[in-house]
Amino acid sequence: MRKILLAGNWKMNKGIKETEKFLKELKNEIEEEIFEKIDVAVFPPFTSLYIASILLKNTKIYLGAQNVFYEKEGAYTGEISPTMLKEIGVKYVIVGHSERRIITRENDEMIAKKLKAAIEEKIVPILCVGETIEERERNIHKEVVERQVQEGLKFLKEDDEFIIAYEPVWAIGTGKTATPEIAGEMQGFIRGKIKEIFGKEKGEKVRILYGGSINSKNIEELISHPEIDGGLIGGASLKKEEFLSIIKNSIRSLK
Ligand code: PEP
Repeated sequence: MRKILLAGNWKMNKGIKETEKFLKELKNEIEEEIFEKIDVAVFPPFTSLYIASILLKNTKIYLGAQNVFYEKEGAYTGEISPTMLKEIGVKYVIVGHSERRIITRENDEMIAKKLKAAIEEKIVPILCVGETIEERERNIHKEVVERQVQEGLKFLKEDDEFIIAYEPVWAIGTGKTATPEIAGEMQGFIRGKIKEIFGKEKGEKVRILYGGSINSKNIEELISHPEIDGGLIGGASLKKEEFLSIIKNSIRSLK
């Protein structure tokens, strides 16, 4: 069985002070037993990663980064390497988030290189894929997502550990959550592609998260779908009470 992962993507929010406050409280209030059933990770911005890594040491809450570059070191102004992330205990890294594909023009080639570079440092990449509303209306959403999956994974091998997050762009930060049926259909489609690329066994093992306006009210229904192995949560992960409620409610769907 695939273990549920709840991943809080803080985006460009929470500097050092806020990170410290949030994580101290989260550590105290999260119930230990939940870690038997689900994995929990937070993804602070780069400047808050170090303090987060200190605060999360000896806890079961994983640390994630929101981006990474594909080279180890050198003349790449403004970039952060997988080696640097590894040094401070990062376990997961988000790659190819739609905000990076659209605003900072990351393309499939760069994304594929980032996945490979992360894996070489034993950091688990979370490859984000998903269509825009125009692409869905033109009925090319499967074509788009298939390309993102195939191109993004092209340098990986069957043994490499990675996660996919299906995040329809029209659902991110809009309050328009995909229904479990819509998300489940796309995630089943993605799993089919992974099986085609790496074989049936690998396809069954890979965790596929859903992301897009998840909150404490819709998480249970989403997670109940057999194809949805967790959530990438943006806005709702910034509020500690709401994030804790999401964790609690997702456990309910597993019973
Ligand atoms: C995200 O940033 O990955 C995301 C899903 O954001 P939100 O939950 O705010 O829609």
